[in-house]
Amino acid sequence: MNRWLDELFELLRFPSISTDSRNKDDVQACAEWLAARMKSAGLESKIHPTPGHPVVIGRNKHEAGRLNVVVYGHYDVQPVDPLELWDTPPFDPVEKDGKIWARGATDNKGQFFAHLCGITETIEESGKLPVNLTMLLEGEEEIGSPSLRPFLEEHREDLACDVIVVSDTGMVAKGVPTLGYGLRGIACCEIAVSGPARDLHSGVYGGAVANPATAVAQLVASLHDGEGRVAVEGFYNDVVPLEDWEREMWGAVPGMTPDDVLGVTGSPSLSGEQGYSSAERLWARPTAEVNGIWGGYQGEGSKTVLPAEAFAKLSFRLVPNQDPAKVMEKVIAHLERHCPPGVKIAVDPGHDGQPYHTDPHSAFSKAAQAALKKTFGADPVLIREGGSIPIIQDFKEVLGADTLLLGLALPDCQIHSPNENFTIENFEGGIRLNRVLFEELAGC
Ligand SMILES: [Zn+2]
Repeated sequence: MNRWLDELFELLRFPSISTDSRNKDDVQACAEWLAARMKSAGLESKIHPTPGHPVVIGRNKHEAGRLNVVVYGHYDVQPVDPLELWDTPPFDPVEKDGKIWARGATDNKGQFFAHLCGITETIEESGKLPVNLTMLLEGEEEIGSPSLRPFLEEHREDLACDVIVVSDTGMVAKGVPTLGYGLRGIACCEIAVSGPARDLHSGVYGGAVANPATAVAQLVASLHDGEGRVAVEGFYNDVVPLEDWEREMWGAVPGMTPDDVLGVTGSPSLSGEQGYSSAERLWARPTAEVNGIWGGYQGEGSKTVLPAEAFAKLSFRLVPNQDPAKVMEKVIAHLERHCPPGVKIAVDPGHDGQPYHTDPHSAFSKAAQAALKKTFGADPVLIREGGSIPIIQDFKEVLGADTLLLGLALPDCQIHSPNENFTIENFEGGIRLNRVLFEELAGC
């Protein structure tokens, strides 16, 4: 383990922040380090330039008749601000209280590097891996992976595979192995409501002219009914209902009781669609959220104005089989229909991503569950995630393969925040998981 920890610390020292152009050379240097590291493990490695940051590929010698497995990870990281909230410098990793503290420790360097260490151990001990491996490491995940889909399309044949392994999600609680089999999709838009030609005196004109800020509030309020359901006409048409076993398993998942959710969020009470638990609301039900709402006077004191314009940013988390484009059409129709008289509305659709779902009872999923059980000594829980990782659906569309989401992050690992950390227990577990996983998958 000392050897693997030393190497992980080297990897964590690269400030590979993808969004900041000042770190471009650091991202490149990190890619070069990884290519060299894969080579020293006995893999053939190559750095592929893209219009953005490079993709690094590592492969063993592929043999006919064996299973083709892609292991995906990302070596770029989030920015570190606010720096003063870090207890130790983000790119100077330290080991303390059984954890590794650094930017990227969990998201995602620690997680994918555990796989690479497992791969290295297997090759050193048995001379070869039991599967045809392609390790695919990208440097743009934190900025939305703009180069990855074109890369997949361009290298479709080289990357052809039976199954994809990704450790970039979470365990529901410490010591509880977790297999993810679904992700929510997303559709976003911004609405602009306009009224009079300019801001008006609210005494001279208020009451005789429609107020765009009131209209935005009415539109936002029209998105839900009194039972927490999304009131957009036809919104639930394509939603796949929860299965009985899902409700049963999620009812017992650690970390998802009302107290857990209240504790993590600091919210005074739970809310949402009636008839569903928090886990069900988060993992299997679609939502409408207001991400921002503004307009009119925001300064100190009062200014009695009737604003000419008001705005809101909306996002919709989607579940199988909802289609983001179809949902956005319904949302726009709803907003236009509910727009009060006296104002004009313009809706600008933003980014979107398909939901993802795979069969948790497939042969590959079962192999992953067996590997999780052997590694962590407990039955894995099967969950979906509330968030969206659009590249997982890209993998399915371009490479035609399903992804096993084998998350090693813990709820308190503070990804994207100051004091990001990764437990040594899960780093070590990830290494063992890789070794058992390839064996189990090869038996499929
Ligand atoms: Zn991230």
